[in-house]
Amino acid sequence: MTENGAELKPNAWTRMEEAETQAAYDFNEGYLNFLSVVKTEREAVDYMAQLAAEQGFKKLSDIDTIIPGQKIFFTDKGKVCALIVIGEEPLANGVNLVASHIDCPRLDLKGRPLYEADGQALLKTHYYGGIKKYQWLAIPLALHGVVVKPDGQIIRLSVGESADDLVLTISDLLPHLAKDQMEKKLGEAIKGEGLNALVGSRPGEAERDPVKTMIAELLKERYGIEEDDFTSAELELVPAGPARDVGLDRSMVGAYGQDDRVCAYTSLIAALELDKPQRTAIALFVDKEEIGSTGNTGLQSMIIENLIAELLHKSGETSYFAVRKSLMASHCLSADVNSAVDPNYPEVFEKMNNSFMGNGLVVTKYTGARGKSGSSDANPEFLAAIRQLFDGNGVTWQVGELGKVDIGGGGTVAQYIARYGMEVLDCGVAVLGMHSPFEVTSKADVYMAYKGYKAFMQSFGAVPVKEAKPRAKTTRTRAAKPKRS
Ligand code: MN
Ligand code: MN
Repeated sequence: MTENGAELKPNAWTRMEEAETQAAYDFNEGYLNFLSVVKTEREAVDYMAQLAAEQGFKKLSDIDTIIPGQKIFFTDKGKVCALIVIGEEPLANGVNLVASHIDCPRLDLKGRPLYEADGQALLKTHYYGGIKKYQWLAIPLALHGVVVKPDGQIIRLSVGESADDLVLTISDLLPHLAKDQMEKKLGEAIKGEGLNALVGSRPGEAERDPVKTMIAELLKERYGIEEDDFTSAELELVPAGPARDVGLDRSMVGAYGQDDRVCAYTSLIAALELDKPQRTAIALFVDKEEIGSTGNTGLQSMIIENLIAELLHKSGETSYFAVRKSLMASHCLSADVNSAVDPNYPEVFEKMNNSFMGNGLVVTKYTGARGKSGSSDANPEFLAAIRQLFDGNGVTWQVGELGKVDIGGGGTVAQYIARYGMEVLDCGVAVLGMHSPFEVTSKADVYMAYKGYKAFMQSFGAVPVKEAKPRAKTTRTRAAKPKRS
């Protein structure tokens, strides 16, 4: 391999005709908008459900009987969503599932966050997911989420997104006084308890904690939030501001939350465009992947099983075995991102087997750490079928293992989906600076993800027209045999 490992592999840009290149740029306009307005899992579900409803998808709970060709959407607890297009074949033959996650690393507010110190009002946080803490200092932060009042009223917050709105921030230590800090290990220099966000500095009339009291009064006045209400809230500090084009050629997208909203958005648009698939297609969007797919909105719960059971029930099939049978016969693309080779850190990558930005949709046979531990490890039969599907549909794709062996590792939802016996393959977009407040992807890869997911949901497992003739021939030969003997 040379220094430029990427050059030895097909590049998605060079494989596209001019019209398709334009289509890729246009597609990414929508993606940038999505990333700019969607900063939490709840906002993702709201966006998806609204778009699906606008495009004629019917709510699953409003439907009694399902029929082929029907377009349905489903939401659960405001943090899980699915778009379903019913196929011509019975559900017992399995579904084509694309599963992505819509939660992202961030800083969650604690249940009692507000306090005053040294004339400043601050909010205590507890980080969510795998972050490099130093990346969250000295940047503008927006506050998104919900506060639920004891009477059930839900107050939605989105503060800090428009250019003239206020933002919050977490201060970093000035270099002049950071001599001791700079000698610490990177992972230990910033403490989790040090991630307190600055929320005010002007004292009010109160004798005790005048700054904090002023902020508490503002919260009540502006949003109707009492201090105790933080106990029943989900408030997330996320990088403020819109997604941006990156590069003089505007070939890349820079934004917070592309892991894994890049796979969510591309599979969402693909699902919206499906037309009478042979097998039932499902684009599923789940929560809690970043903390181990736990909780009742994560994929370790019964979300998929319950959804299949409900679909079967509404198609007149009530046996429990039918649920198992359908799950076992299904195929899934675990749509999650991979790391793009970063020329600033060549020491952690193995260029023959890692993915490059711009080289298309990444197919990852296994993830894991310390000897593939925790990986689902896709079956080669399924991989072969996906190769054929992508090659036949003009999808530029590449293989991608996560870095060098024993350098680190990671996991996806694949292992939890594999429990049902269905075929699962990790398949997503290469990201530069994954989990950082400003992740970067290639617009060509984003477009290839959309094409790949669409081909999979529309036609995976469908009998190709070209193969129909040889099969008929085989049947005739068999039928002829007895005559000859
Ligand atoms: Mn992910
Ligand atoms: Mn992640």
